[in-house]
Amino acid sequence: MIDMHCHLDLYPNALDILEKTNQNNIFTLAVTTSPRAWKATTEVFKNYGNIYVSLGMHPEIIESKSNEIDLLMGNIKKTNFIGEVGIDGSSRYSKTFALQKEVFENVLKESEKQKGKIISIHSRKAVKTVLDSIEKYPRCGKAVLHWFSGTQKELERAISLDCWFSVNPKMLKSKKGLSLIKKIPKNRLFPETDGPFVSINNNFLYPWDAISISNELAFLWECYENEVLLQMKQNLEKLIGNLGDSQ
Ligand SMILES: [Zn+2]
Repeated sequence: MIDMHCHLDLYPNALDILEKTNQNNIFTLAVTTSPRAWKATTEVFKNYGNIYVSLGMHPEIIESKSNEIDLLMGNIKKTNFIGEVGIDGSSRYSKTFALQKEVFENVLKESEKQKGKIISIHSRKAVKTVLDSIEKYPRCGKAVLHWFSGTQKELERAISLDCWFSVNPKMLKSKKGLSLIKKIPKNRLFPETDGPFVSINNNFLYPWDAISISNELAFLWECYENEVLLQMKQNLEKLIGNLGDSQ
């Protein structure tokens, strides 16, 4: 159906699952972790119309990819989709926190200059900083917070900043994840997998598994599952509008 955040290029069997991904999902956002990976992946995935590759720079590896920052900034004008970008506030990345923030803000600034992009954002243990940055660049486009794990207050703030959210099946397995999902407005939510980094019962989640959250959402929203699916489609239309035709 829809997978708003997956690392399709990093599955061990990536090439073997492209066809099925393209057929099963009307939209898959294949986020990348560096501009070089974006370039290469765009080339390989170009014949799959339902798979969109986004230009990324993963905050966890920003130090080793710092020589690609210019490439990142220079390519923003060439794409509608940015991600994975953002900030990771975990202690093991504290050394690069300032650099992460600087690059993230520059990406938002450039996106604003280029009339807005759809941006898939990592905000683990750094929600406040990420939201501060988004607030600073309100015309950066549409910020989609992937695997949001902040507090209820931070969630409220993100909603007031017009953020979108992509939610994966693993979030449904935790009490905190579930309590956040309950508060996300229906018209701001997308399914994601974050595959292949997420598995349930030792099985990778594949892009077509993202929609497995629909069952639980139907329960939370007290509606039928097909109404959930319809809502997701409407959300997608609202997010990508007529951007869908171009990469
Ligand atoms: Zn990711």
